[in-house]
Amino acid sequence: MVGAVPVTVSVLGATGSIGKSAAAVIGANKDRYRVEAVAGGSNPQELARVARQLGARFAAIFDQAAYPALKEALAGSGITAAAGAGAVCEAAARPADRVVAAITGIAGLAPTCAALAQGSTVALANKEAMVSAGAAVLKLAASHGATILPLDSEHNSLFQAMGGAPMSTVARLTLTASGGPFRLWSAEAIAGATLAEALKHPNFAMGSKITIDSATMMNKGLELIEAQHLFGLPEERIDVLVHPQQMIHGLVTFTDGSVNAGLAVPDMRVPMAHCLAWPERCDSATPALDLIRIGRLDFEAPDETRFPALRLAREAMRANGAVPTVLNAANEVAVAAFLNSRIGFADIVKIVETVMIMPAMADLPAPASVEDAVSIDSEARLRAGEVLSRLS
Ligand code: NDP
Ligand code: MG
Repeated sequence: MVGAVPVTVSVLGATGSIGKSAAAVIGANKDRYRVEAVAGGSNPQELARVARQLGARFAAIFDQAAYPALKEALAGSGITAAAGAGAVCEAAARPADRVVAAITGIAGLAPTCAALAQGSTVALANKEAMVSAGAAVLKLAASHGATILPLDSEHNSLFQAMGGAPMSTVARLTLTASGGPFRLWSAEAIAGATLAEALKHPNFAMGSKITIDSATMMNKGLELIEAQHLFGLPEERIDVLVHPQQMIHGLVTFTDGSVNAGLAVPDMRVPMAHCLAWPERCDSATPALDLIRIGRLDFEAPDETRFPALRLAREAMRANGAVPTVLNAANEVAVAAFLNSRIGFADIVKIVETVMIMPAMADLPAPASVEDAVSIDSEARLRAGEVLSRLS
């Protein structure tokens, strides 16, 4: 914060779980932040409520049909209402010191890019954008002098634990994982898991897509790919460590054997506060980490047999090419189908693997641009839809 001038923030995905963390941190630091724009998908009442709560100037909803309801819900507030994909990108592109990119899935890619194209500092939660189009997104950011701050808790923790050290001094990065609701389940039991069981994350209340990704551990797979892009390390130097308490979020092992661990209570308000205030600090409105109360921290090796999504993500990283884009698209289709009770839990990863290894997908070159990634994503979604209709 420079003197008394507030930091302007826009929140994309303001009605979601990460959006709520942003609102909580902004609310705990009212003099520090001013909200420029908020954007959401299809819930006009909730978007209008958040926009009013945060005192935003502009509110954009993706669903065109929701425009009249949004406009009515904002009547008298002085907040401009807008609708459609272009309006969400406009929300992202309005001048702001920080743009929180927290739309779920590939839907967040264009708005994230719209913010980066303005040279903004983007707090990136939308890992699917990085998985799908990582190299192109980084290129876009570099060409506009934009900064990407990792908001995903593991990557945020790694960024902090690195303390600005050059990457040449980093030997390994370790992402921790809760192990999800099925950490102790047999492969047979996992295969038969119900939607209600998969939606019970042990530590976090999150949006439904990432909650299912945590149950398959595809979330950690996506995070491996995200880390590969954000930190520029090869696949074999990024590890996953199951740590059920999720107090340590990431570990940086330096070339001399020193290890810096990033600890915090498992609450997205902590990395949110870091990203909003960086390089300063602000109140995250969270309870202090109490290691005496926690008593112990446990660690286990990840099990790629019971959680094949981890293996698939590693294969995608090694294959390079367009496989990460394909993996992400097929996973989004499969998770949506599971959430709609069209397929069983084990089918999610089955669909992803089937699409990934199709020669037409596996042999595609890495997307050279964001547009390329979008077209590969569309193609992979069609293939995943075909596999899905054979299964369901
Ligand atoms: P939620 O499902 O809770 O929220 C998603 C948000 O995106 C909602 O505001 C939703 O609006 C909005 N949205 C959906 N589609 C569109 C669209 N086409 N245009 C504009 N807005 C849209 O998800 P989370 O907050 O849990 O996750 C958001 C992202 O952050 C994901 O990429 C996730 O992987 C990542 N992340 C989440 C963490 C967490 O703890 N939740 C931790 C780390 C990363 P509406 O409410 O109208 O549907
Ligand atoms: Mg994470």
